[in-house]
Amino acid sequence: TRSTQAWQAADAAHFLHPFTDFKALGAQGARIIERADNIWLWDSEGQQILDAMSGLWCVNVGYGQPALVEAATEQLRQLPFYNAFFQTATPPAIALAEALAAIAPPGFQHVFFAGSGSEGNDTVVRMVRRYWDLQGQPQRQHIISRWNGYHGSTMAGASLGGMRYMHAQGGLPIPGISHIPQPYWWEHGRAQGLSREDFGLVAARWLEDEILRLGPENVAAFIGEPVQGAGGVIVPPASYWPEIQRIAERYGILLVADEVICGFGRTGQWWGSQTQGFRPDLMTFAKGVTSGYIPLGGVLVGERVATALIEQGGEFEHGYTYSGHPVACAVGLANLKLIQELGLVEHVREDVGPYLAEQFATLKDHPLVGDAETCGLMGAMLLVKDRATGAGFAPEQGVGMVCRGHCFGNGLIMRAVGDRMIIAPPLVITRAQVDELMHRIRRALDLTLADLHR
Ligand code: PLP
Repeated sequence: TRSTQAWQAADAAHFLHPFTDFKALGAQGARIIERADNIWLWDSEGQQILDAMSGLWCVNVGYGQPALVEAATEQLRQLPFYNAFFQTATPPAIALAEALAAIAPPGFQHVFFAGSGSEGNDTVVRMVRRYWDLQGQPQRQHIISRWNGYHGSTMAGASLGGMRYMHAQGGLPIPGISHIPQPYWWEHGRAQGLSREDFGLVAARWLEDEILRLGPENVAAFIGEPVQGAGGVIVPPASYWPEIQRIAERYGILLVADEVICGFGRTGQWWGSQTQGFRPDLMTFAKGVTSGYIPLGGVLVGERVATALIEQGGEFEHGYTYSGHPVACAVGLANLKLIQELGLVEHVREDVGPYLAEQFATLKDHPLVGDAETCGLMGAMLLVKDRATGAGFAPEQGVGMVCRGHCFGNGLIMRAVGDRMIIAPPLVITRAQVDELMHRIRRALDLTLADLHR
């Protein structure tokens, strides 16, 4: 093994990191993460770090679960790869499709596998357009999504996503995609004096406005994350998604839930759409399906679309080399089994989720925190300049990044989206570990405040 400096030098020389300013990272030197257990990471300097982001919202069962390692090893020995293109299938892929159908909401019996969440959402784009072709309405091609949503980094995924800085690179969005504002009460509802619930209805009706602007006969689908994750853990008012569902039904458009973060127990149900009270036609999944131990994603296909694809479809001209990869699917199966054995969905819903909510609410006592909210084991606190008026800091002050720096420095990984500080810890986290997490968050907040007063 090499020294930290040697790793950093080789990293800067060869590794172009995702979503990274290469030059700035080269100057600073990457932090080298070497091993992990449960909710803890260790870097090459031996520092122990509480991973409050579950890697990248994915390590739901925590690190170091032997059952997942064994499932991968056994499958690698038995059959490391075979495809599903040649009218062939492997036992792990079949068994995982069956297991996913068993935990999916009623009406979902079919799965299309991909290698990631981005590929899952690319599949969604082609599948919903194909659906409308099959219905004899080929002009229904347009897909509506939301500003500040995140649906991946491929051309279609980044186009569905509403990150303007992503659109600015590479000529996005691709044609036939448009965005409506997100249901972010703090930004769009508070100043208007709307209650959260009234604002939820207003925000949902932006979808109706957009459908009418485009002409309902041209709209194929609406896609959204049940709770927006990378956009800053924007928990919608309870009124939002049921109203979205009514609007989608009124105009007959398909409703797609991007469950890449919210799926597999994160919100205290198997699916975020269950927590948010709506019934989608399609669900994209990835991340938590294998707890991130190995790449896997896909789309759960509800009856309406599945029936059309199967009964009228002919060949669906789409798929990936790794659609139904046997090793990934074997890990997925072991992961679902472990989530069930450990009772993690109930743990989030009945125990540690409510406990985190209670603890997180106390952050509102801190002079830097304007708002704090959670949904299951996703949470965000908003750093503000003036708690009385809710006025925020100037973006160029980069207060969120200062706070993130103090988290990192003090053994806590928390992410900053502007001045929203967000967490999504592994679902195995205990109450005592939540206490430790809160202790570290408060310390980072105090250090950030001290910096501001310097
Ligand atoms: N959809 C959502 C909601 C996500 O959060 C992500 C990744 O963060 C994706 C899609 C893309 O998944 P992947 O990075 O596996 O392509």
